[in-house]
Amino acid sequence: MRKLLIVGNWKMHLNTMQASILLHRLQERIRIYRDIEVVIAPSMLVLQPLSVQLDRRKFRLAAQNAYYKDDGPFTGEVSFTMLRELVHYAIIGHSERRHVFGETLPEVALKMEAAVRNGIIPILCVGETKTERLAGHTRRVLHDQVTTALKGLTGEDIENLVIAYEPVWALSDGDPTHHVHTKPDDVAAAEKVIRHNITELYGKKAAENVRVLYGGSVTPDVARGYLDVPGIDGLLAGGASVNYAQFSGIVDAAYKMRRELGAED
Ligand code: PEP
Repeated sequence: MRKLLIVGNWKMHLNTMQASILLHRLQERIRIYRDIEVVIAPSMLVLQPLSVQLDRRKFRLAAQNAYYKDDGPFTGEVSFTMLRELVHYAIIGHSERRHVFGETLPEVALKMEAAVRNGIIPILCVGETKTERLAGHTRRVLHDQVTTALKGLTGEDIENLVIAYEPVWALSDGDPTHHVHTKPDDVAAAEKVIRHNITELYGKKAAENVRVLYGGSVTPDVARGYLDVPGIDGLLAGGASVNYAQFSGIVDAAYKMRRELGAED
């Protein structure tokens, strides 16, 4: 059974003090689970202080982004090389990077290579916009995003890879009363497309090893519905992850599900 993965993307929220308080509270509440990995992706600024505070038996850290060159005159950037040993994972190709900051498919591919070169596991985000969905282009968009991102990697490189299906139209927009929920059937269809694309590139075994997550307005009350989708190995939460009760509620949903399936503590 692949380990379940619950990722909290704190985006550009929480200053150093707020981040430390939230981590402290989560560490009190969340236990050590043998078959669930809980990952926190705070802002670049707080990665270092949180790494000192972090209980490594309970949590792992992820960067939300990094630059693909290892070193050089690139004002304002932080490289994957600088993040070595600080983070276990890095989110790459998040839709906000693609659509707000204009990150292109080739840039995403370079970041994937840079992460792997520096021993950091990529959490690649893929997903269609509303316009692409309405035009019936979801499969093509997922195909293009997955295949270009993996272009520079070997079969061995992708063994630990994580891919998060995050339809852009389902991400929360900051309004806490406005949640657009993807149907579990649509998540199941996207999961199949993603694994099919990996199978075509690297074979069935590689496709089975990759962990596929769902992300988009996930809250504790809908978490289980997505966790029950066959082939879905966890969740990526954004807005809900900066709320102590919501994020721990999502982890609880994963815990409950695994216990029902017979996993041991
Ligand atoms: C995200 O942006 O990665 C995300 C999952 O956001 P939200 O849960 O807020 O929709």
